[in-house]
Amino acid sequence: MIKPRGCNASGHKGWVELKCRICAKKLYIGDDIIYVCPKCSRTQDAYFCIADAKKTIHMKCPYCGSELKLLLTLT
Ligand SMILES: [Zn+2]
Ligand SMILES: [Zn+2]
Repeated sequence: MIKPRGCNASGHKGWVELKCRICAKKLYIGDDIIYVCPKCSRTQDAYFCIADAKKTIHMKCPYCGSELKLLLTLT
């Protein structure tokens, strides 16, 4: 299980809403499959829906070129 460092989602009960950086689709942690660049998630909000991660950017971060990781849950 992947645990984002330093983020315990205080104030939230698991429903954390993110937006796909490419198509702006709303993504919910724990409900949607979300891909994230571990380097750019904080600086660029580099979160992506599965369709864009696979088809648009081919699992590579468009900002730094790193391989995207699956973001499963914050809890
Ligand atoms: Zn998308
Ligand atoms: Zn990146």
